[in-house]
Amino acid sequence: MQELRSRAQADEAYTWRLEDLYESDALWEADFSRAEAEAAGLAALEGKLKGGAQGLLEILRALEGSSLLLEKLYAYARMRRDEDNANPLHQAQTDRATGLLVRHETASSFFGPALIKLGGERVRGYIAQEMALLPYARFLEKQLRMEMHTLSPEIENLLAASGEMADAPDTIYSMLTEADFVFPEITGEDGQKAPMSHGRYRLFLESRNREVRKAAYEAMHGQYKAFSNSIAAAFSASVKKDRFYAQARKFPTTLEATLFPNSIPATVYDSLIEAVRRHLPAFHRYVALRKRTLKLDELHFYDLYVQIVPPIELGLPYDEAARLVRQGLKPLGETYLADLEQAFQNRWIDVYENKGKTTGAYSWGTHSAHPYVLLNYNQTLDSVFTLAHELGHSMHSFYSNKAQPPMQADYPLFLAEIASTTNEALLLDHMKKQAEERGDRAALLALVNHELEQIKGTVFRQTMFAEFETKAHALAQEGQALTKELLCEIYKTLNEEYFGEAISLDEFIPYEWMRIPHFYRAFYVYQYATGYSAAVAFSRSILAHEDGAAEKYLGFLSAGGSKDPLDVLSDAGLDMRSPAAVESCMQAFEQALDRLEALLKEG
Ligand SMILES: [Zn+2]
Repeated sequence: MQELRSRAQADEAYTWRLEDLYESDALWEADFSRAEAEAAGLAALEGKLKGGAQGLLEILRALEGSSLLLEKLYAYARMRRDEDNANPLHQAQTDRATGLLVRHETASSFFGPALIKLGGERVRGYIAQEMALLPYARFLEKQLRMEMHTLSPEIENLLAASGEMADAPDTIYSMLTEADFVFPEITGEDGQKAPMSHGRYRLFLESRNREVRKAAYEAMHGQYKAFSNSIAAAFSASVKKDRFYAQARKFPTTLEATLFPNSIPATVYDSLIEAVRRHLPAFHRYVALRKRTLKLDELHFYDLYVQIVPPIELGLPYDEAARLVRQGLKPLGETYLADLEQAFQNRWIDVYENKGKTTGAYSWGTHSAHPYVLLNYNQTLDSVFTLAHELGHSMHSFYSNKAQPPMQADYPLFLAEIASTTNEALLLDHMKKQAEERGDRAALLALVNHELEQIKGTVFRQTMFAEFETKAHALAQEGQALTKELLCEIYKTLNEEYFGEAISLDEFIPYEWMRIPHFYRAFYVYQYATGYSAAVAFSRSILAHEDGAAEKYLGFLSAGGSKDPLDVLSDAGLDMRSPAAVESCMQAFEQALDRLEALLKEG
């Protein structure tokens, strides 16, 4: 293998231009000193609330100014560090910026409770009387929404002080599974001993050598099984913690407490599960097809990630990938394409891997400059989709920041994955059409399989996780003890129901839930499934050239967090209160499955 280049050797044209945030580290230092001074002064602002509308405006401007400055400092330091994690200067900058963020948060924590004490009526009166408060109206409403669930100052202080203890289940779980776990070595594809880790697990699972997959699977789950009592205790404590705060704040259930800040009704959550369950027979068909295609007597969990179609060597140079993405996104219209061009021309993207660079990919939108994208582009099909995905996030931030005042531009996770996945769906459609025109069966197979795998991982699997959480939290609510046996039994049954008869459930499957760190953030994962479904619905109406579909979609991108997420979506013509979007995603799955079955028969 060729040795990786160092950061200094990277071709500048394919690196991101962080100078658009700070021309030099010296300028960063100057801003850091300013931000430190500002953060120190924040707590003293509380007194200004006595000064009516003008006082409130003064506080909001100060909070906004200091958080924008901090965001800029932190983004620059983190992205510089991500270029080369071994760089001590940017490591130190990142640590300092993180420390300052915490201090800033503590210093500004007076605001929410103080605003509620002032009362909704008075605050709304201020907004009516002072136009300059309008850009903050949505932010203020979100704070005031907590009015019914805010307690006396004494109890609020007590709850705030309990925060560090409340983090314990998650911290203990992470320490155990990330720091203390020692995996046995396994035999790799080349017959040599290979170290096993969380990072390598997925690669091993994709191995075409079944013994390698099996060994990795057993090495991984053997550890979880060995520590299963401790992990179940940590998870149970986490569920109790969420229940404690929900009860303290007078919410009927933990689910409702979690959905409340974004005004998502619990029916959205429940109807996702119902809709996906209605289509489980199709998923069973896919699992059975996998078993047949791999020609296995028994299909095990460790056979679920290996490709069932021959891999295609895409070998697409980056510039061509960029051209392909532009073509794929054409249905979004000329405005979108022209704005997207800036990402390519003005060095928003850090393209190639180098020594010490952070792995994976992300998009980072800041209010002080254009968004940035980190890639590790490697010419594969996946990395072309990753480019389209991250640019989806970037354009979402770009439009929201352009159209919205800073304090209502940021969008919540419920909306975030929609823009990225819509881009992927449009690119997929374009590439499928191209492959059809070329009569390229291998490419079509790979693309259709890619689509099925995406829906498997993002919609079916995440919904199964969502259901696991619902059941665990419901049992806790009834006062049942969440023992290892009970949790593993729930998970085993869910696997039977979701994967159907084609899969052989082995001794490790009941423990697999223990691998999912997201469970320590209650009721989080369902948003991957709803986000994916919304993206399928959007892309379908854009591709069908439905009246104004692309314009409405751009409206969604520009709305940021200006309204509750369901209202942002319904303004763009998508009703996520009904199960229609999830249904449309399930249809897409069934169509892709029919297609894959037909293509495999042709071969
Ligand atoms: Zn994403």
